[in-house]
Amino acid sequence: MERKLYTARLERKICISEPAQCFHFEFVIDELESFPFTSGQFVSTLAPDVNGKQQTRAYSIASAASANRFDLCVNRVEGGFFSNHLADLTDLPPSGSVKVHGPHGHFVLRTPVTDSILIATGTGIAPMRGFTQWLFPEGGPDRSEGKEIWLVFGTRYETDLYYQEEFEALAAKHPNFHYLATLSRAGDGWTGLRGYVQDHVARIVEERAARLNQVLPLPPVDPTTPATELNFDIYAYICGLNNMVAGVREKLAGYGWHRKQIIFERYD
Ligand SMILES: Cc1cc2nc3c(=O)[nH]c(=O)nc-3n(C[C@H](O)[C@H](O)[C@H](O)COP(=O)(O)OP(=O)(O)OC[C@H]3O[C@@H](n4cnc5c(N)ncnc54)[C@H](O)[C@@H]3O)c2cc1C
Repeated sequence: MERKLYTARLERKICISEPAQCFHFEFVIDELESFPFTSGQFVSTLAPDVNGKQQTRAYSIASAASANRFDLCVNRVEGGFFSNHLADLTDLPPSGSVKVHGPHGHFVLRTPVTDSILIATGTGIAPMRGFTQWLFPEGGPDRSEGKEIWLVFGTRYETDLYYQEEFEALAAKHPNFHYLATLSRAGDGWTGLRGYVQDHVARIVEERAARLNQVLPLPPVDPTTPATELNFDIYAYICGLNNMVAGVREKLAGYGWHRKQIIFERYD
C-alpha cells in the first residue's frame, strides 16, 4: 500500500545535551491542518543517502498531538546516517525539512488509564514526554484520573537528563506524578538517585504491593483467560535500547507480572 508522504518543516531545533549531541526538534506539516496521532507512536522519516539510496528510520514522537505539529528527540549516532542528517538540519530560514509518513506503532497507553510505570533510558524518553503531555496537558483537563504515574528515567550522566525541568515542574504540580531520574555514572556532586532503572522500578513495585497488601510474586493469571478479559491495575511502558528493555521485562516477570502488562518499544 502506498503511504502518504508529508513534508515536515523544521521550525525549531535545540541542542538539549551537548555531550550526548542530543537535539529537540519541532516540526510543522504545512500541508495538513491536523496531524492526529496517539501519544507514544512514531513517524518514519525518509531521505536519500550519499549513494542516492532511500533510507527510512523510525523516530518516536516526543509530544502529544497538537494541530499539525510534532516534536522529536534524537541523538547523533557515531557513523550513523539519519540521526546525523536530522541533527544537521537547520531551523534558520530557509529552514530544513524531512519527508515523513505515519503515525505508526502500538506503543500507546492502555485505556482506561491505570497506575503506570514509564521507564526510559536515553532518547527513549521521547514517547514518555508524549505520554505525560497527554496525561497532564498544559491548560487542559488532567487525564490521569488520579492514577499514580511514575517516570523512571535513566542515563549515565546528569547532562543527559533530557527535559529534566519539564518533568520536575510537572511533578511539582501533580502529586500523582512521580519523576525519578537515576544516573549510572554520577559524579560526586550528584545528590539524586544512582544505579540502573531496574533497581528503582523494583522498589516502586515492591512498595506498591506492600501498600495494597499484595504478596509478590503475584499468582499467575489463568492462561485460558481471553485477552479481551485481561484487566490489570498497573502497566509498565518501557522504551530504549534492547539491553535495558530486556532487563526490566525480566525483573517484572520475576514479580509475576503478566507479559501483557509490560508494553515496550526497542530502538535497536
Ligand atoms: C520504533 C522506533 C523508534 C525510535 N525512536 C527514536 C527516537 O525517538 N530517537 C532516537 O534518537 N532514535 C530513535 N530510534 C532509533 C532510530 O530509528 C535510528 O536507529 C537511530 O537514529 C540510528 O540511525 P542512524 O541512521 O543514524 O544509524 P545507522 O546508519 O542506522 O546505524 C549506524 C550504526 O549505529 C548503530 N545504531 C543504530 N541505532 C543506534 C542507537 N539508537 N544507539 C546506538 N547505536 C545505534 C547501528 O547498529 C550501526 O552500527 C527509534 C527506533 C525505533 C525502531
